Amino acid sequence: MILDDFKLDGKVAIVTGAARGLGQAMAIGLAEAGADVAVVDILDTKDTQQLIEKLGRRCVSIKADLSSTDCVAQIVKTTAEELGSIDILVNNAGIIRRAPLLEFTEKDWDDVMNINLRALFFLSKAVGEVFVEQGKGGKIVNIASMLSFQGGILVPSYTASKSAVMGLTRLLANELAPHGVNVNAIAPGYMATDNTTPLRADVERNKAIITRIPAGRWGEPDDLKGVVVFLASEASAYMQGYTVAVDGGWLAR
Ligand code: NAD
Repeated sequence: MILDDFKLDGKVAIVTGAARGLGQAMAIGLAEAGADVAVVDILDTKDTQQLIEKLGRRCVSIKADLSSTDCVAQIVKTTAEELGSIDILVNNAGIIRRAPLLEFTEKDWDDVMNINLRALFFLSKAVGEVFVEQGKGGKIVNIASMLSFQGGILVPSYTASKSAVMGLTRLLANELAPHGVNVNAIAPGYMATDNTTPLRADVERNKAIITRIPAGRWGEPDDLKGVVVFLASEASAYMQGYTVAVDGGWLAR
């Protein structure tokens, strides 16, 4: 029956950036669908872990700084040892730096590219190796952005990183599909999280954004639960390399 294909019972997921915001909501969504979850963050993930365990699922917290790839091997090892296997990777951790183009620094370029793109690639590569060894397929879900499709303003490294995430999603899908692995991405629209606090605090920008969103509201982290479960489940078995916008209609406009 079709709804059974959405179930994640017995699956193990890694979610990066799961201490708060979209990553926390997606980790909980995966657990609600039946998965055990390794939650990775530079911040304390105690709250997320408690919420997942309350659902009766296993959860392991992994403290890691994804601005360097030094932590990648440890994330994979700890998840496999503590939770038994790896079936799903959600590359969600990400940062943004805002400054006018002519003032943009190399640090703001490198910091964003290292977390949003470099860590995403090398963690996908390491988990891809595990998927191939395990021989039972797997799922990678990358978090892209509206700025995978549009240029944006004041956020050059963010636009560069998220545009690359959409391209890399296609490449990873092409190379891993023969191993039964699905790689896709979610492009959230304007979501109410700490990442967008400055935008929502700017009365004029906030008004302009809401006016342009056909749904007439900011997205909530819970708005991503359905799509992440779909892309992490057998229900999306024939989807490869696609970036799904969850944006209240922003791109349709
Ligand atoms: P957020 O800032 O609330 O959460 C990001 C999480 O990533 C935090 O828990 C943070 O601690 C973690 N993180 C940051 N740097 C890290 C590092 N060096 N190592 C490990 N973890 C680190 O942001 P969010 O809005 O929940 O964003 C989540 C993802 O969604 C990001 O990739 C972001 O670019 C993307 N996104 C957000 C929006 C939005 O409107 N909020 C829109 C499109 C895409």
